[in-house]
Parts: sequence; structure tokens; C-alpha cells
Amino acid sequence: MKKNESGRAIRLERPLEGGVRSISVNDPTFSDLAGVLTGMKPVTYTDCAPHRLAYLTGLCRKLKLETLFVEEFLGRQAPHFNNDKKMIFIGRERAILEKAAKAWLHCSTDGEWGRLLGYPDCCARAFADWYNESALRDPRPEIITRILLNTKKRPALDFRLNNLWNYFSRMDFNDPKDCSSYRKMLDMNREMDLPSLHVISWHPCSYDCARSREKAGVMFSFMRHHAPGYAAALENMLARPALFWDKFRYAVLEGSVSGNRLEYAAVLPPKTLLSEKMYKLLACCDSVKTGKERTGFYRAGKAVFTAPGPAPEILDFR
Ligand SMILES: [Zn+2]
Repeated sequence: MKKNESGRAIRLERPLEGGVRSISVNDPTFSDLAGVLTGMKPVTYTDCAPHRLAYLTGLCRKLKLETLFVEEFLGRQAPHFNNDKKMIFIGRERAILEKAAKAWLHCSTDGEWGRLLGYPDCCARAFADWYNESALRDPRPEIITRILLNTKKRPALDFRLNNLWNYFSRMDFNDPKDCSSYRKMLDMNREMDLPSLHVISWHPCSYDCARSREKAGVMFSFMRHHAPGYAAALENMLARPALFWDKFRYAVLEGSVSGNRLEYAAVLPPKTLLSEKMYKLLACCDSVKTGKERTGFYRAGKAVFTAPGPAPEILDFR
């Protein structure tokens, strides 16, 4: 990924419609653009900073996509992440964008809004259930743990459904601790552009959700066709096992999983909010075994340390 004056860019080896040979990593993400251009997502949205508007509208014009400035259309200041930014819907048909704007007022991924964004019904329903239940709890339970609980086949999770770095709709913006942790994560990994690193932009109901995998397959094929180098780098990041403690504390590893044992050669980026002590422990070991009440850390088959308490989850993305 090269950096230009308007942010990181993805060079397309096979241009998109209208001779588009390069796109920005964000606003919209390649994943969202792939969703709309393949018909997997009737609508996508992005909240765009003022200085990025010319790029976004120019890109959509070339791709023959419609844009809708939602706040202007609705005639009100609707809520979103940052008030300097404009909420923009993108899609092939103006009428569908207007329908989506009205559905957006309910600000839920359930029902029509979720369907217009192309989220499978099962996933939209599961997300709405999590959201409504978790709103009553402080702190909110982590959605990744819940998705894993709903997953029947734990070994070999589909990397295209890896949502570790997709913090959209998983953040609690009313919780200052959540916000500062997220800010720290972004600051520690500036060079990676975490918000763009996913294939599907929604949270699946399970990591073996057939509808999500089907859509992810279409979108990832499109990305691979147009930008094979970028797609390979993305796969290289997403198709890795991770030890997952919680939303901001996990370690992605170069290694492989067998049952509840993870053998690894290296700890990979991004850096998370795991303690320095844990990073040092992981660096001097080569395998981890999780159990109900403890986690064992080993080097060359010999126990180095046993941590009591609930073990991290093993996310076996490949
Ligand atoms: Zn689903």
C-alpha cells in the first residue's frame, strides 16, 4: 500500500469501470466498494471528512454510483461518529438510497436497514439481539466471544469472516474507557489502517454462517481480481490464529492450532493493549495450551508459566 497526499491508496492491477486504477483505502473501504459493485450490498455508507469529499464523489461518478448526503436529505443533524464529517450513502439506485436514509433514522441493523446494507438476515438478527441485550450491561459483553459461542465448527474459521479489527458497531461511544482504548489501538498501529482490514463489513452471526461466507466469497474474489497483491496481503493478515482475551487485548500469531493448543513461531502485528509482561511471555515461548481454569505457556515442550483464571479463546482463522 502506497501513501499519497490523500491517505493510503490501493493500486488496482485490473482497473474498475471508468478506468479507475487506484482507490483510497478508506471512505469508502475496498470491502464496501466491492460489496456495492458486486451487488452484495445494495447500499454502503461512510462518514467522510470534508477534504475527502471531492475524491469520493469523483470516484462514484466514474463508477456510475449514486451518492446521497444523508443529513441534507433528511433535513436534520443525525447522529454519527464525528460532527465534522458528512454521512454519505453509496449505491447504484437513488431510490434505494432514499429508502435506506429513512430506515437509518431507526439506527438499527435489524429489519430494512440491515437488509439494504446487504447483511444476511441471520446476522442482522443476531447483531440486534446482542446489541439490545448488551446495552443493559456495563461493560458490554464482547461480540466476538458471542459469535464464537454460536460457531459449531471451531477449527479452521473462515478468514474472510475475521472481524477482529472491525470495531464499527462494536464500540460503546458512551463509555470513555472504550473510546480511549480504541484511540490507543489506532495510535499504536498507525501504519496498518486497522479500520480497513476486513472482507465483510458486518459482524456475522457465527464464524460458520453460510450466507456470510457466500457473500464474503463473492466480495473477496472481486478484490482479488482487481488487486491480487492487496488481496494476498489482506489474506496474510486475516488468515492467522489469535489468542483472544477481549476486544482490545489479543495476540495474532504466526502458527497453527490443534485442539486447545496453539504452536507459534512469532507474535505478529497489530500491537494490542495486552500488558508488556504478556508480550514478553509470549515472545519467550512457542506454544500455549488453554484450559477451563488456567493457561499454560511452553517453550520446547517445557512449561514456562501457568496463568490461573479464565483462558483466552483461540480464534483459529485460516
Ligand atoms: Zn448469519
